[in-house]
Amino acid sequence: MRHDTAESFPEIREAVRKLCAQFPGEYWRALDRERAYPTAFVTALTEAGFLSVLIPEEYGGSGLGLSAATAVLEEIHRSGCNGGACHAQMYTMGTVLKHGSQAQKEAYLPKVASGELRLQAFGVTEPGAGTDTTRISTFAKRVGDKYVVRGQKIWISRAEHSDLMVLLVRTTSREEAARSSDGMSVLLVDLRTAVGSGLTIRPVRTMLNHATTELFFDDLEVPAENLVGEEGKGFRYILDGMNAERILIAAECIGDGKFFIDRASAYAREREIFGRKIGENQGVQFPIARAHVQVSAAELMVQKAAAVFEAGQPCGTEANMAKMLASEASWFAADTALQTHGGFGFAEEYDIERKFRETRLYQVAPISTNLILSHVATHVLDMPKSF
Ligand SMILES: Cc1cc2nc3c(=O)[nH]c(=O)nc-3n(C[C@H](O)[C@H](O)[C@H](O)COP(=O)(O)OP(=O)(O)OC[C@H]3O[C@@H](n4cnc5c(N)ncnc54)[C@H](O)[C@@H]3O)c2cc1C
Repeated sequence: MRHDTAESFPEIREAVRKLCAQFPGEYWRALDRERAYPTAFVTALTEAGFLSVLIPEEYGGSGLGLSAATAVLEEIHRSGCNGGACHAQMYTMGTVLKHGSQAQKEAYLPKVASGELRLQAFGVTEPGAGTDTTRISTFAKRVGDKYVVRGQKIWISRAEHSDLMVLLVRTTSREEAARSSDGMSVLLVDLRTAVGSGLTIRPVRTMLNHATTELFFDDLEVPAENLVGEEGKGFRYILDGMNAERILIAAECIGDGKFFIDRASAYAREREIFGRKIGENQGVQFPIARAHVQVSAAELMVQKAAAVFEAGQPCGTEANMAKMLASEASWFAADTALQTHGGFGFAEEYDIERKFRETRLYQVAPISTNLILSHVATHVLDMPKSF
């Protein structure tokens, strides 16, 4: 099935498709039933080097730009697989790469590149703060050469399948900080030693297989040398990483959208009811065509956002707009694919209902649509702030 844009990174795409062909729907369905982690899939991607494309060559990665990473994730999703189990291994290291010390980069990045270390957990969200990150209350108190961490996080994905976690904490309370976004810091937590020594991880079962958890910090000790960058500036470091994350997740949505469109149009061409193909009816054709139009338009925005990111320009607006358009386009495509399949859309063996559940997440996480609209309204269109 041909999609119109001249595709970037054809060799990478071809290699990813070939790898994904070894992980068909049956594989994902079995994991989905058990809410089990796709270890074999993640190992195969790691060994093929696809999760280290963004790590510079001097640290053992491929040194490619964000567009290459979008090609990898788009193809994973277009193949019916799910990158959610490991996409953060690609970009979480960006906080260390951009803001870490030379010693931290040398200690961690080569091992993240080889897969020896999994750095695919990042802990920002808290039950009491939600999207308003400046209200996080997990606090790290400096005591000698350590930080002692107390607090709670929610929705921290892959924490059980990661060796390290980038953790956002307060080191100065919101009340004492000059600005609400000051006084937060980033710590690199070694989960291998933390669990059972001040950190408890509790899985949260959700409507999709996403290995997400809640974390309880009860005087967890973290060596002070694990502070990334300067104390008090962590919010800015995390925002940097969030742009990469939004663009990459937008690429996953484009992949999902293409998956649904491929499946829906194939089914519409074959399924015969009332003595003719259902795809002969414009009532069936048009939503699929509309989904294609929307995914194609969103894809252009994702490409633009990736280009702005790669040029080192501020890209918050483009990253947000790409994520919003792509997540809405993939959701419309999902709904259309489900409708096109009629009752069979609900049957597990068609993989439509699983992907339908998976793609719905992206209008809420990593940032919800309202917050994107609010950003555009106030930062781009200069309308008054509502909060
Ligand atoms: C499966 C899953 C995995 C996740 N993984 C991670 C992870 O690995 N690490 C991590 O740190 N976080 C993670 N998250 C958290 C995710 O980023 C948040 O759920 C998301 O940002 C929304 O925050 P919230 O759930 O607290 O919603 P809230 O902030 O409570 O908002 C609830 C609703 O109200 C709306 N709303 C809130 N304020 C306003 C306003 N002022 N104007 C208009 N509308 C508003 C929001 O748009 C949203 O629809 C994950 C979440 C899920 C569900």
